[in-house]
Amino acid sequence: MTTGALKPAPALPARPSRGGRAGAGRLINSLPRGGTLPEEDFDRRHRVILGLLWAHIPGLFIFAVARGYDVGHTFLELAIVAAFALVATLTWRREKRRLSATLTSLGLLTCSALLVHFWSGVIEAHFHFFVMIVLLTLYEDWVPFLMAALYVLLHHGIGGAVDPGSVFNHAAAIENPWRWAGIHALFVTGAGAAGVVAWRQQERMRADLVQANDALKRATIELEAHAGDLGRSNRELETFAYVASHDLQEPLRTVGGFAQLLGQRYEGKLDAEADEFIGYISEGATRMQTMINELLLYSRVGRTAVPHDPVDLRELAEHVEASLATQIDESGGTVEIGQLPTVTGDSSELARMLQNLISNGLKFHKPGEPPRVAVDAERVNGEWQIAVADDGIGIPPAQGERIFGMFQRLHGRGEYEGTGLGLALCRKIAEHHGGRIWVESNGEGGARFVVALPSESEAAR
Ligand code: ADP
Repeated sequence: MTTGALKPAPALPARPSRGGRAGAGRLINSLPRGGTLPEEDFDRRHRVILGLLWAHIPGLFIFAVARGYDVGHTFLELAIVAAFALVATLTWRREKRRLSATLTSLGLLTCSALLVHFWSGVIEAHFHFFVMIVLLTLYEDWVPFLMAALYVLLHHGIGGAVDPGSVFNHAAAIENPWRWAGIHALFVTGAGAAGVVAWRQQERMRADLVQANDALKRATIELEAHAGDLGRSNRELETFAYVASHDLQEPLRTVGGFAQLLGQRYEGKLDAEADEFIGYISEGATRMQTMINELLLYSRVGRTAVPHDPVDLRELAEHVEASLATQIDESGGTVEIGQLPTVTGDSSELARMLQNLISNGLKFHKPGEPPRVAVDAERVNGEWQIAVADDGIGIPPAQGERIFGMFQRLHGRGEYEGTGLGLALCRKIAEHHGGRIWVESNGEGGARFVVALPSESEAAR
């Protein structure tokens, strides 16, 4: 038997049942293992139980003297309890937890025996034994518990046989002390069993908790590893997109430039089909240039931290409106800019986002109806919601998420020009600023794009 520090056992594997004695094996398995209470919990409980033992000494002394016992005699009897308490305290200090708990248990049971003795063996005093037995299961350790049970057995059996009157103050008990000892053993066993069941439950719950904690730790480690992989592959992809689009520009410029030269030099000199083909090459090169520019922009967003520069969104929107003058004129549309806040962020990214949203509002108008685009903002739950609304063709609600994906378009180029990168870029910019973007539309009466920017991106005014 070790009297050293208790080693908490994390999980509770089932104990193997030996020699086919399945019933006995099951019983043993259903018992607590003991000694699994974490040291800090053990110490906390031991502090209270040992304190209770110390508190019994003056309590019992007063009780005994009040009942007319001789002071010197009482003092001597209580010296046994004091000795238990003292040695228990000293051994605990020397990290001998189990020994200290066993001595405390014996001390408390001695208090029960003394109480019965001072109370002239009345039956009511025996409740102290029952309470102590249950209390001692709090150690969740078989050594102090079994020592305490053995103590009760010896006290009731031997003490009851030698001096029945001092243990069971009852005529029937004095006549049949062993029978009474048996009855009391039943009570003590019942009380102890209740404590043991609670102890077993606690052990199971703790083991489940340890397992759940382990699983959580493993899951967190896996998640972190996945997040790391994802971050790495994202960065690689962005670098690839950046390098590819950057390097593609050079040959594309050559193709575009020579197609233009071909057009200028040979227009009308070759047949009509050749002119048409040269036109296609030029047009394709221009479109590819636009896509590459947008891809480059897309891959650049998020490469650096968002600056903490104040950005006056109203001023920014007015600049954007000016830059879209041709599109506004051609469509015959109007852009209304309402009260917009000053936020902190990257002005060129925010300008790009506003430009994409306003330009889309102008582009996707109903045939024959000049577009009307309105830009305004409102404060909702501590964040700014910047809305760009139009009265155009709208977006079917089922497509409301899809359109934010890369190269996702709801219309062919024959209907509306575009690359399908604009909204993907807007989402990346919004998220880079710690915000969100979504669209509200019933699919007919126009579309309302909302960019929510967190309040920390609001500049101090
Ligand atoms: P692009 O405008 O180059 O096609 P976007 O990424 O900006 O690409 O938009 C993706 C798709 O979302 C568009 O092709 C269009 O179908 C739809 N969309 C975007 N804005 C609007 C709008 N204001 N009204 C209706 N549909 C829109």
